[in-house]
Amino acid sequence: MTCIHDHDHAHDHANVDKDTQEMLNRRRIVQALAAGGALTVSAPALSGCATNPETGKKQFLLVGEGQLSQMAASSWAEAKRKTPTSRDPRYLDRLQSIGSRVARGANKGSEQWDYAVFDQDTKNAFVLPGNRVGFYKGMMDFAETDDQIAAILGHEVGHVTGRHAAERVSQQMAGQLVVQGGTAIAGQQLGKKCRSEAEALIAGRTQISREEQYRIRRGYEQCLSGAHRKTQLLNAALGMGFMVGVVLPYSRKHETQSDLLGAKYMHKAGYDPYQSVKLWEKMAENNTRRQPEFMSTHPDPSRRARDLYNYIKYQERLGSQGWESIAMPKNS
Ligand SMILES: [Zn+2]
Repeated sequence: MTCIHDHDHAHDHANVDKDTQEMLNRRRIVQALAAGGALTVSAPALSGCATNPETGKKQFLLVGEGQLSQMAASSWAEAKRKTPTSRDPRYLDRLQSIGSRVARGANKGSEQWDYAVFDQDTKNAFVLPGNRVGFYKGMMDFAETDDQIAAILGHEVGHVTGRHAAERVSQQMAGQLVVQGGTAIAGQQLGKKCRSEAEALIAGRTQISREEQYRIRRGYEQCLSGAHRKTQLLNAALGMGFMVGVVLPYSRKHETQSDLLGAKYMHKAGYDPYQSVKLWEKMAENNTRRQPEFMSTHPDPSRRARDLYNYIKYQERLGSQGWESIAMPKNS
């Protein structure tokens, strides 16, 4: 689900036709959520299609950062409970100080940021709604310079300013509503089937004993409750893992946006943006089997390095006009 005028459909999971889009107008979404959705949509969050000032792209948003931050609080606490965090200042202090510089580069220096270094040799990092940045020790060891750590931090901050989590949750909410609509219809169909089966038993008959009437009615009621149970099961299955699917599998579009935003924030924070190219080249050479978050979502590292290089070169060519957007040069 994207905005109707946004033609970037490359990574839409929900393939929504025109009728369905009409069905997904705001009032119905609010009604559907009020009827049992996991999230309540508050008025200011209901921005629908809004242009993101950082990416310049239209976004379909049904939730605000505040709500997501609440949802993410428990995920963050759980992550820290499950994996030991490092108190080693060579890691945490370093991350915090680079982090606050990059956040200032993104005009987010006045906001509260939370950092954690997980004591694990994984080459991975993530950001949760509410400015919570998690780094694994392995990632910090892999990025040898402050600039390279700034590149990863910039990327994570890009997910925040790009409002990628909110966009993904909104897409999932919309998708869920479509399917919920579908299960409601399926429920109705099942109900109809029960009724026509019962009707077939009495069709054309003038005399039905009391016992048989009772039996038919019972059969009909059992059939209905079975239909109801099936519908409920389907809904429960769809409602599970709402948060689970949000943070890790960002789309390629989001990953690319974050890469470019990250380079921009690095530059604004006074780091060398070319170090992001270096980092991705190094990632490309590194042939670990377990791929970090950055690598798991489609764009291959050497391609990311090349895109970043082209983007940075282009910003430099623009001179004083540079570094204001994440527009890429034509034919790159
Ligand atoms: Zn990412």
